[in-house]
Amino acid sequence: MPDYETVIGLETHIQLNTETKIFCSCKADSWNQPPNTNICPVCCGLPGTLPVLNEKVVEKAVLLARAMHAEIPKVSYFDRKNYFYPDLPKGYQISQFDESLAKGGYLDLPLPDGSTRKVRIHKLHIEEDAGKTKNQGSERWVDFNRCGVPLIEMVTEPDLRGADEAAQYLIRLRQILRWLGISEADMEKAHLRCDANVSIRLKGETILNPKTEIKNVNSIEAVKDAIEKEVERQIREVEAGRRIQTWTLEWDEDTATLKKMRSKETEADYRYFRDPDLLPLYLDDAWREQILSGFPELPLERRERFTSQYGLPEYDADILTSERNLSDYFETAVKAYGGDPKRISNWLMNDVLRMINEQNILPNDLKLSPIFLAEIIQLVDQGLINTTTGKTLLEKVQTTGKSPRELVESEGLAKVSDDNAIRSVCQEVIAESPNEVSSYKSGKINLIGWFVGQVMKKMKGKADPTLARKILEELLA
Ligand SMILES: [Zn+2]
Repeated sequence: MPDYETVIGLETHIQLNTETKIFCSCKADSWNQPPNTNICPVCCGLPGTLPVLNEKVVEKAVLLARAMHAEIPKVSYFDRKNYFYPDLPKGYQISQFDESLAKGGYLDLPLPDGSTRKVRIHKLHIEEDAGKTKNQGSERWVDFNRCGVPLIEMVTEPDLRGADEAAQYLIRLRQILRWLGISEADMEKAHLRCDANVSIRLKGETILNPKTEIKNVNSIEAVKDAIEKEVERQIREVEAGRRIQTWTLEWDEDTATLKKMRSKETEADYRYFRDPDLLPLYLDDAWREQILSGFPELPLERRERFTSQYGLPEYDADILTSERNLSDYFETAVKAYGGDPKRISNWLMNDVLRMINEQNILPNDLKLSPIFLAEIIQLVDQGLINTTTGKTLLEKVQTTGKSPRELVESEGLAKVSDDNAIRSVCQEVIAESPNEVSSYKSGKINLIGWFVGQVMKKMKGKADPTLARKILEELLA
C-alpha cells in the first residue's frame, strides 16, 4: 500500500470566562442551571431589543489574538450569520465575517522530535453561541441558556499532520487559554469545542483532497480517536478506487464511531451581512495598550528561559511551565532559596506536584508557600534536619500553615547527630534481631540498609542516617 499523509485543520470554539454574556447581562456560565432559566429578551432575540457589546469579550479576544501573533485591526464589524434551526431563536447568529477582530497569525507547536510545527491561523473572531436541543423520547427539547454565551471561533489552516499533532495542538491551545486567564478551556464542559477537517494524500503530494468534517467531539482523546478512525476509512475508500465525499460526520461518544450527518453547507448559504444593530468595533491605541499592558510571557518563551536562565533540563522546564501558576510558584521559590534552582525543581516535581494533584488544588492555594518550600530545603542543606524529615515537613506545613522552622522547634524534629544517642539505639536494634545479625555475619551485608531503617524508625526519622550506618557497621563487624 502506498504511504499516505493526513492533512488536518481544526476549528475550535472557545467559551470566554466573562461574568456576563456577550450582548446582555445574563450570566455567561449556566452549567449547573435548569434549562431556560438564564435567559432574557436580548439573548432570546425578542423584537424591540438591542444587543450591547460586552467590553470584556473584546479584551479577552485581543489577548488571544496577540498570543497567536495575529494582526489586530483598529476597526472590525459584526455580521449576521443567517440560518434556521430550533436552537437559534433570532434566526441568525451574531458573528464576525470578513472584517474580524484579528487577521492571520500562528501557533508554534513543539513536536516530540524537537522540531516546531508552525500552525497558521486562518480565522479568529468573536461571536455568540446558540442554544442547544436534545431528544427526549419522541420529543425534541430546546434550552436557550447558552444563547449569547461569548465565544472565540478560531480556525487553523490545514497545517496539522496526523491525529497526534491535532491532540498536541489542543493541549497547547488549552494551556495558552488558561495561561492568559481567558477561558477555563474544559472540553467536558464545552468550554473548548473542536471540529476537525480531515483529508489524506499521498506522501509528497501538495494538493488538498476533498475533506470530511468531524463534529461533536468533546475530549482530546476522542478527537484523536475520531481522526484515526476517519483516516482509516478514507484510506480504505481510496484504495478501493472510490472518491472521498465531503461529508459532515458526527462522533458518537458511546459507540466510538462516526456517523454521517449531512452534506456540508458552504459559507454562502449563510447570507452574511453587517449587523445593523451594532456599531463598528473601534479598538483605539489607548484601549489596546491598556489591554496589552499586562500581557504575560507565554509558556514556550518561559520554558526557553527556564532552561537558559536556571539551567533546567527541557523535561523539568516543560512540566514547570505547564501552568502559569506553577511556573510563578517555582520562580518565587528559586528567589527565596538562593541556591541551585534544580534543587527546587526536584522537590517541586517529586513531592509538591504530587500534593497538588492528590488534593486537586492550585499551586497558589497551597499553604505550603514557595517561601516555606525554600525554607525546608535550606534546613536540609544546613544539616538541621535530614531529607526524610524535610519530606514529612512538607505535609505538616501544608496541614498546619505554620512555618517549617517553627514546626522543627515545636515538634523537636531537628536531626540527632549525637553519637551516643544513636549508638544506644543501634545496640538495641542488634539485640532485638538475632536472626538478621547472623545472616549479616554470614555474608548478607546488604542487610545493613534494613538495620539503618530500624534505627530510623525507632528514632522517628530524626537520626543522621550516615552516622547510624557507620555505627552499625562497626558494631556488626
Ligand atoms: Zn440574556
